[in-house]
Amino acid sequence: MRVSKFFMPVLRDAPREAEIVSHRLMLRAGMIRQSGAGIYSWLPTGLRVLDNISRIVREEQDRAGAIELLMPTLQSADLWRESGRYDAYGAEMLRITDRHKREMLYGPTNEELITQIFRDGAHSYRDVPRTLYHIQWKFRDEIRPRFGVMRGREFLMKDAYSFDLTPEDAKKSFNRQFVAYLRTFERMGLTAIPMQAETGPIGGDLSYEFIILAKTGESEVFCHRDLLDLKAPENVDYDSDLEPLMAPWLEKYAATEDVHDAARFADEVPQDRQVSARGIEVGQVFLFGTKYSDPMKCQVQGRDGKLVTLHSGSYGIGVSRLVGAIIEASHDERGIVWPASVAPFKVGLVNLKAGDSATDKACESLYEQLDNAGLSVLYDDTGERAGAKFKTMDLIGLPWQVIVGPRGVKAGLVELKNRASGETTEIGIDEVVNRLVATQTG
Ligand code: ATP
Ligand code: MG
Repeated sequence: MRVSKFFMPVLRDAPREAEIVSHRLMLRAGMIRQSGAGIYSWLPTGLRVLDNISRIVREEQDRAGAIELLMPTLQSADLWRESGRYDAYGAEMLRITDRHKREMLYGPTNEELITQIFRDGAHSYRDVPRTLYHIQWKFRDEIRPRFGVMRGREFLMKDAYSFDLTPEDAKKSFNRQFVAYLRTFERMGLTAIPMQAETGPIGGDLSYEFIILAKTGESEVFCHRDLLDLKAPENVDYDSDLEPLMAPWLEKYAATEDVHDAARFADEVPQDRQVSARGIEVGQVFLFGTKYSDPMKCQVQGRDGKLVTLHSGSYGIGVSRLVGAIIEASHDERGIVWPASVAPFKVGLVNLKAGDSATDKACESLYEQLDNAGLSVLYDDTGERAGAKFKTMDLIGLPWQVIVGPRGVKAGLVELKNRASGETTEIGIDEVVNRLVATQTG
């Protein structure tokens, strides 16, 4: 992508309305634009990050055996009456009436709809276990939307739902999502700690929130410091018993304020390992058994021919919240520092003298080579001053910058800058593409 043909309305100054760093940086980097309280347009750079996050979520869901579908944003009120939640959900639900006076709502979550779909499509024990998921916009009329995309009213969520014959099988489906979450967040460069949590309006009896620690987090959390150093399991066989893989997380104390037990915390965690901090919830998993399948009669025929009511769980990830959460976890005074896996472009190519034919030629060639190597590039081919170009590149936080000027080109050299460390090295113009390809694989 050429900056001269792109749309990235960068702001020089920090917008006044933004209270936290991720919100400020997203506005300054031209990633989002507010169109109403808690409602945002995703501008091209922001959308690229959102798509990268969705792709990682999708890959790990698929690996864990979940199956993707897509449900609509609008749902019927009658469906929610079946579960009894239509009245219970309260003011957060956006209720809509269509031209035929039918009551509708903009889905805040999808337990009812997926239960209806599964009930109508699954008939026998051979149709389970299944976990279905989608990545779709939700609406919750939050009383206090704030912090940009972190607490929006319209936001993008991955939500998965599992269906099993028995409580034991349902726990296995729950475990698959739990492990998939550990891997998903780690791939985004985050340390997300599963913490015991309250179940809230979703209901059920077993729940963990996946929390990243950040000063700007909205909830207070407590955990053992060792949890911060754990690494997500690799090469997971999702058909095997996953409890041993999960054990390192479950053995150590971790709880959100709602279920925190100060006495147990003091008892189980040595004082110098106690972490009490603020946290951002990036995902939550619930096991709730027959809470929806009972009232909605989601049943299949068991092996013995008798009807069995299915056992379920639901599993959410805040895809759009993650964009802000990753920035909260990864930025410096100059701007965003994207982990390569979610960066809007991998490389920023900076032409220090646009219009100079040798420099232009070198840049065009690098642009093409990087593109052929499968590395996404943002090429600043504009006539802006070098200082402004550097500032913008640092602000938008691409992992690598390749800086090309007339003097270097004469000597066959360019500068390669790593955004995270700030380290700059001179490197042969013929070598730089291979070096960048190596950083992708190595
Ligand atoms: P919160 O406690 O932050 O209000 P929640 O527990 O109500 O969230 P869930 O129903 O667990 O949310 O939704 C799954 C995920 O969706 C959350 O873990 C969070 O990452 C994300 N999410 C929830 N509400 C919002 C929101 N208003 N804006 C952006 N993301 C959200
Ligand atoms: Mg939650």
